[in-house]
Amino acid sequence: MNICGMEKYSMVDYPDRIACTLFTLSCNFCCPFCQNSSLVFGANNNHFISIEEVLDYLNKRKKMLDAVCVSGGEPTLQADLIPFLKKIKDETGLLIKLDTNGSRPEVIEEILSLGLIDFIAMDIKNSPSSYGEIIGIDGYDPKDVIKSIELIKNSAIDYEFRTTLVKEFHSDENMEEIGKLLGNVKAYKLQKFEDRGSNIKEGLSPVPKKDAERFVGILKKYIENVSLRNYD
Ligand code: SF4
Repeated sequence: MNICGMEKYSMVDYPDRIACTLFTLSCNFCCPFCQNSSLVFGANNNHFISIEEVLDYLNKRKKMLDAVCVSGGEPTLQADLIPFLKKIKDETGLLIKLDTNGSRPEVIEEILSLGLIDFIAMDIKNSPSSYGEIIGIDGYDPKDVIKSIELIKNSAIDYEFRTTLVKEFHSDENMEEIGKLLGNVKAYKLQKFEDRGSNIKEGLSPVPKKDAERFVGILKKYIENVSLRNYD
């Protein structure tokens, strides 16, 4: 596992729980709005946190924690993700959440079938016809992303799908297409984009609240539980 960041206590990474969040190195997408460019491009790769260090911390603090969130980068690219999740489950008993871009359905399927996670959050970057543009890969075929959506929808665990809204990329038409694609999923969050100065591309902007609220209205035709995040 190439773990290059650990947020020891997070109140926002696992719904209603206190989590320790782990950040894994590297990603197979290159979203212009990404706030973790150092993880995507590997600028942090001089300092890795060992599995032993992580487990030691979790075991010492598990009375104060409910959960572990494995995030990225894209965690499903890590060759030893599955044995790592098993270790966390067996040795700490904490809840586990996985954040993913959904590009590796075969890994998600194995993790789900082994019962290794309690919650999964998958990004829906945009509607299928606009996927390649928003992930920075010309001509990308989102078939793997669509397969992951189906796996997650049909799983027995809690989940959410989420989209970071970027003014330059998201339109009413995209929302209509996403609503049709997802159908009535358990939870879909539209998140506000933040320009923190560390994004892969400069000059992008958030979707204004009134437009984001209109997007919710469009999606409500397809999804009951759709809401905004970080728009207050
Ligand atoms: S936003 Fe997520 S999927 Fe996109 S490049 Fe960044 S880490 Fe990868």
